Amino acid sequence: MQNSSESETAWVDWFLSLKGNDFFCAVDEDYIVDRFNLTGLNTEVGHFRLAYELITDSLSEHLDADLWNAVEKSARHLYGLIHARFVLTTRGLLLVGEMMRAKQFGTCPRTLCNGQAVLPISLTDTPGSKSVRIYCPRCQDIYNPSSKRYSVVDGAYFTTSLPHLVMQQCPDLLPAPASERYVPKIFGFKVHSIAKMHRKQDEFKQLHCDHIMSQQFKSNLGN
Ligand SMILES: [Zn+2]
Repeated sequence: MQNSSESETAWVDWFLSLKGNDFFCAVDEDYIVDRFNLTGLNTEVGHFRLAYELITDSLSEHLDADLWNAVEKSARHLYGLIHARFVLTTRGLLLVGEMMRAKQFGTCPRTLCNGQAVLPISLTDTPGSKSVRIYCPRCQDIYNPSSKRYSVVDGAYFTTSLPHLVMQQCPDLLPAPASERYVPKIFGFKVHSIAKMHRKQDEFKQLHCDHIMSQQFKSNLGN
C-alpha cells in the first residue's frame, strides 16, 4: 500500500498495483485536481483531456479500442509527469521519505553498505530517455534496480534531484558515509602488496644475475 492520507481514484489504485509501479507514491488527489499543478502538461501529453479524465475517474465518453489504448498510454505518462512534480513538494518528499524508511525501494546491493535503504533516481529529467535507477545515500552511488520489471519504468518520473531533496527534508534518514572499503586480496595478501613483493623479487634476481656476470667477467680477465 502506498503512503497517502488521501483517498485515491480507482484508476490510480490500479496503476499503482501494476508490476514495477511500486516505486511510485500515491499522488494526493487534491494535488491532481488542482489544475495549476498541471500547467504545461497538456503540451506534453497526447489526448490530455481524456487522459486526465481517466486518471480522475471522470471519463464518461465511450472510446473505441484504439483510442482507449492511446488514452490509457497517455494517462500513464500524465500520471508519471504529475508524479515528478508532486514528489518534489514538501508533502511528496515526506511521503517518499516514509517509503524509504519502510525500504519500499529496496536496499543497496553493495555488501559493505549493510542493507542501506535506497531511493529511486533518474539519470536525466527528460522523459523517455532512461529507466529508473536506485541511489544509495551511504556509498553515494547509483545502481540498476534488482528486478527487470523496473527497466520499463521511466526514470524522469522520479527526477534527478529526488534523493538529495528527500535527505534535506528528512535529515534523520541520512546515513553516515560508508567508511568500510573493500580491499582486494589474493590468498590473504593485498593485491598491491603481492605486486610489490614480485617487483622486489625481480630486482633481487636481476642484482644476483648482474653479480654473477661481473664475477664471471673478472674471472675471464684473470685467465
Ligand atoms: Zn551503498
